[in-house]
Amino acid sequence: MRALTIIPKQAGSARLDEVPEPPIEGGPVLVEGLALGVCGTDVEIVGGKYGWPPPGRDRLILGHESLGRVLEAPADGGLAPGDLVVGIVRRPDPVPCANCAVGEWDMCRNGLYTEHGIKQLDGFCAERYRLEPAFAIKLDPRLERVGMLLEPASILAKAWEQIERIGARARWGPRRVLVTGAGPIGLLAALMGVRRGLEVHVLDRVTEGPKPGLVRDLGATYHTGTVEDACREADVVIECTGVGRLVFDAMRCNAPGGIVCLTGVSSGGRELEADIGALNRAMVLENDVVFGSVNANRRHYEAAARTLAEADPDWLGRLITRRVPLGRWSEALVRRPDDVKPVIDLKA
Ligand code: BGC
Repeated sequence: MRALTIIPKQAGSARLDEVPEPPIEGGPVLVEGLALGVCGTDVEIVGGKYGWPPPGRDRLILGHESLGRVLEAPADGGLAPGDLVVGIVRRPDPVPCANCAVGEWDMCRNGLYTEHGIKQLDGFCAERYRLEPAFAIKLDPRLERVGMLLEPASILAKAWEQIERIGARARWGPRRVLVTGAGPIGLLAALMGVRRGLEVHVLDRVTEGPKPGLVRDLGATYHTGTVEDACREADVVIECTGVGRLVFDAMRCNAPGGIVCLTGVSSGGRELEADIGALNRAMVLENDVVFGSVNANRRHYEAAARTLAEADPDWLGRLITRRVPLGRWSEALVRRPDDVKPVIDLKA
């Protein structure tokens, strides 16, 4: 079968390969790959900056934003042939740490977790793969065109859950949310904010293309310019760019008791002049919280699957700005100014 493989940390090593059928050790659920979402992490892996191969091998099958259809499944696993399915990206560490031991692998404490398509486990950019039922999420059949958005949506379901848990430290009545970045992560963050009945502001650089309309059609407000102009009094900020200046401004400008959730992975290497003392003072005197959030556990995937099933299917469809056939995979990994989510079509 065909699969997109790379040698992690080696730029230019990605290629479409002929590989053996997925080994039975992968799990009893055999899946036909339908489509794969491409994100910044994939671009980094293909660029040789991130990723780990499976033990004893050079090449890793890429891809973690999956969508597939069940071909074979055991009778007692909650899945049946024909079901739409998404694979959970992270697997608990083998020790396991206190969090992995209770299914909270997204909060792994020792870094020994593995991740499909990223860290030591083959990914989902393949014509077929295998899953364990415990690491497979069944999707509403109506999500056939957009189900590859479940993995990024799970990241935001976790972020929102954590925000609400932190908020519960005192009386919690948020009104305004600022989301920085109108990529797929930012737009899904905004969708979940609007669904919570909050006033949502989204900040991005572009003035053209699909992003302003996608934000408006959610009932949120689109801004370009500075964090301060977009929303000075945000009770919640979800930072989705990883850009140093925006991260700093998000920490600096928010409402008293504000919660800032960082979801963007910065590339680093760029220094910023900043008055950390003044930032510290403002954060202490206002009981502000800044925290990082990565990955998602099964509970978050399930919450995200409900959100997607209830969202406007046309709006979700507009997040997918390009569908590239597997044979032309490299086009999906080159970012275009108008892109929201490029997808590799595994059946074309
Ligand atoms: C994925 C996460 C993963 C993270 C770090 C992200 O792109 O969506 O599931 O934990 O990268 O590897």
